[in-house]
Amino acid sequence: MDAADLIIIGGGPVGLFGAAMARLHGMSSTVIESLPELGGQLYALYPEKPIYDVAGFYGISGKDLALRLIDQAEHFSPRFVLGEAVESITALQEDGLLYEVSTGLSTHRARAILITVGIGAFVPRKLPAQGADRFEGAGVYYLMPPLEHFRDRQVLVVGGGDTALDWTLAIAPKSRHLTLIHRRSQFRGQEESIRLIHESPNITVKTPYELVRIEGDHQIQAVVVKEVSSGAEERWAIDDVVGGLGFLPSLGPVKTWGLNLEGNTIVVDPSSMATNLPGVYAAGDVAQYPGKVKLIATGFGEIGIAIAQIRSYLDPTKHGLPHSTNLKGIPRP
Ligand SMILES: Cc1cc2nc3c(=O)[nH]c(=O)nc-3n(C[C@H](O)[C@H](O)[C@H](O)COP(=O)(O)OP(=O)(O)OC[C@H]3O[C@@H](n4cnc5c(N)ncnc54)[C@H](O)[C@@H]3O)c2cc1C
Repeated sequence: MDAADLIIIGGGPVGLFGAAMARLHGMSSTVIESLPELGGQLYALYPEKPIYDVAGFYGISGKDLALRLIDQAEHFSPRFVLGEAVESITALQEDGLLYEVSTGLSTHRARAILITVGIGAFVPRKLPAQGADRFEGAGVYYLMPPLEHFRDRQVLVVGGGDTALDWTLAIAPKSRHLTLIHRRSQFRGQEESIRLIHESPNITVKTPYELVRIEGDHQIQAVVVKEVSSGAEERWAIDDVVGGLGFLPSLGPVKTWGLNLEGNTIVVDPSSMATNLPGVYAAGDVAQYPGKVKLIATGFGEIGIAIAQIRSYLDPTKHGLPHSTNLKGIPRP
């Protein structure tokens, strides 16, 4: 079996950029992604939400950024294995210079590994309200349908963190009216989002409120909510309910690979993005170190560090990364 220089586990934004950078700097890679599509959270969780904090774009939707990253990676011809989750990694040599990676369906070898699995599988926190299960996918949403679905509808968003605030700002301009409820008085999300929400004439904010029940026959007709401090219940006419309670990190098999973990993240040395296993690096949301910020921009920066280190690890005569224009033999667009 041929060994690639690098196996990248996870085809989200950070893994995709890793594949482009690896090949730019002379390393072949195999990208293994558990979903049938590449793009990670951008593609699966918020394809239509605008992103304003990626360098070079005033605003770009999750899907468009994912498509650009896929296009960039494809120019560098990594091997893509889609729809297969990596279950195990095994060091075939003591120095860690040869690993075998297995998905259960296929086996791959490489001289180094870069783990970019983000938050693992995307498991939304479900709404603990009566009726929520019954309408899931048909009135109750955790992953976004096209925003056009909400045109001229009465929408309720539930939650107090960035997921709820992001959905609120994305859906409100399409909706007839949007109500955001949170069971605490204070939101936990970004201050700028909270300010924009309070300024929007199309959004009503109600705190501390809890969703008790969702009512309707074939479609949602109303919700029953409770004002938390008084316990008083109210019934509102609503068409759609969006659960914005965030996602449960679920690293699954990654937890059995012998890595130093902190909760659902992998502890790395931020000067190299190296894990405790020789030849195994991590970047993006899954990588943890003091001061870590889970942003796409951070993940891209971590890729620069990781690729430089992997290159030296595979060939100790090489240090740092030359500028891309000075590289020979790279595929030109
Ligand atoms: C609602 C929401 C809004 C956001 N808005 C912004 C924003 O405006 N700006 C910003 O910078 N960030 C934002 N983020 C965060 C941003 O999406 C993440 O920082 C980014 O996606 C991290 O990229 P990643 O490649 O590390 O991980 P992910 O995007 O999570 O990709 C990891 C990939 O690995 C795959 N995977 C997991 N386990 C395995 C396995 N065992 N084998 C193979 N594949 C596996 C997953 O299926 C996934 O495709 C937002 C997040 C959410 C949820």
